[in-house]
Amino acid sequence: MDKELDIIIIGGGIVGTAIARELSRYQLNIALVEKEADVGWGTTKANSAVVHTGYDPKPGTLMSKLNVQGARLFPSICGELDVPYKKIGSLVLTPNEEGFKVLEELRERGRLNGVTNLEIITQEKLFELEPNISKDIKGALWVKDTAITAPVELAIAFRENAEKNGVRFILDTTVIGFEVEDGRIESVRTDRGILRAKWIINAAGVNSDDIARLAGDDSFSITPVKGEYALFDKEIGNWVNHIIFPLPTETTKGILVLPTVDGNLLVGPNECITSKEDTNVTEEGLKEVLTFAKREFPDLPLNMLITVFAGLRAKELNRKDFVIEPSPVVENLINVGGIQSPGLSSAPAIAVYVTEILRDRGVKLVKKKDFISERKAIPRFANLSWDERARLIAKDPNYGEIICRCEYVTIGEIIEAVRRGANTLDGIKFRTRAGSGRCQGGFCGPRLIPLLSQLLEVSPSEITKKGKESKLVIGETKR
Ligand SMILES: Cc1cc2nc3c(=O)[nH]c(=O)nc-3n(C[C@H](O)[C@H](O)[C@H](O)COP(=O)(O)OP(=O)(O)OC[C@H]3O[C@@H](n4cnc5c(N)ncnc54)[C@H](O)[C@@H]3O)c2cc1C
Repeated sequence: MDKELDIIIIGGGIVGTAIARELSRYQLNIALVEKEADVGWGTTKANSAVVHTGYDPKPGTLMSKLNVQGARLFPSICGELDVPYKKIGSLVLTPNEEGFKVLEELRERGRLNGVTNLEIITQEKLFELEPNISKDIKGALWVKDTAITAPVELAIAFRENAEKNGVRFILDTTVIGFEVEDGRIESVRTDRGILRAKWIINAAGVNSDDIARLAGDDSFSITPVKGEYALFDKEIGNWVNHIIFPLPTETTKGILVLPTVDGNLLVGPNECITSKEDTNVTEEGLKEVLTFAKREFPDLPLNMLITVFAGLRAKELNRKDFVIEPSPVVENLINVGGIQSPGLSSAPAIAVYVTEILRDRGVKLVKKKDFISERKAIPRFANLSWDERARLIAKDPNYGEIICRCEYVTIGEIIEAVRRGANTLDGIKFRTRAGSGRCQGGFCGPRLIPLLSQLLEVSPSEITKKGKESKLVIGETKR
């Protein structure tokens, strides 16, 4: 690999892929380098998936500005890219009378940040909105415009759309160093070879400070702060109608209870400083999250839990803000670090902000005349009406055969996911939901391995869960 590019983006999370899609509007030669086998597998796959309106960040920060702008861009972006976006509203609860003062402060902060549609409600209204909530809760701040989305689906959609508009995605490739000469990055060293570009955008999530340091830039530092979650079966997906927050603290928005766009119930996250590799869920962590949820929802049926997961917040503890700026050390590096929550909500605005930094630095941004703004999702058999299903099956009989019984995923959807670049079990899961249901792939996993092996024309022993060494089978036991 030895290509002269205009821009290299390091990191294929929601931020890197949003930047790739935004820059693909212009006549630029761009590549995105991602160490995993697919996009969206870092923090982007393990968060609450809430599109915050922006009432929470401190007024005057970059975080508050980009959060509010990003949230406003979300409905149109999700519309263009055919990604779920549901404006269900959120409720910040107070368990006592003193809490109303905090709710008023939050409402005022929201007003200063330009967020509207905030209302403080009493117990009576709250119980009407949320019948399962504890009778000990005294009231809430109702944030009517808060939404939920599907972060990995959005990263995939950004990728597909950016690829359509000419961006190259170099996956399974880790950036391991830079050649810096006279204060400029001359080349990017990866574990698969050298790349060269005029500009480097560092969107490597919890590793963004490590990437900057490879260029001799230690202007910011990331502390990984883990958040653990419990995911419940769809049977109790309608346990809550809104996104339920407790009163926030200095450092966190607290443990949430919320429905997901796919109809599950999600509880979490807690908060614990850890290492950049630690995404394990511990017994204590799970207990903390569930005990908290039980206080707000005493009848929550814990036997409906189907899986657990954890994500890492990339916190810049000194600045307590996003770090989106040209490196003070190397002239052609733009750092996009410290993208903790609300990084998902802010991602579309971060992409525009980075584009403006490039423009300010003299990059010629000439719009493509043939930019394609739309992308269609893979049809979801489970969400179609009987008539739509019949029409789809008549067109392609593969949509008539179910492979994942929990989520009603068809072979037609798997074929389409592979055609769009999925080459692992997780790649299939995030595109189709096969393996995301109650049995967590117990039924469809063993069926997907031979199907993927056939579609990708490789031996079953080469099929992995998530790339690299995550092999699923080691060989045949009998013929
Ligand atoms: C518990 C939790 C809850 C959250 N809830 C919300 C929420 O509800 N709403 C909200 O707006 N935000 C939320 N966030 C924040 C949001 O999830 C993040 O801000 C966002 O996902 C960050 O995206 P990213 O692209 O910066 O990072 P990532 O998704 O981590 O992407 C970085 C990518 O860089 C790649 N990479 C790293 N090093 C290298 C290398 N050397 N070479 C190549 N590639 C590399 C990684 O593999 C990764 O894919 C939450 C975060 C956490 C942890």
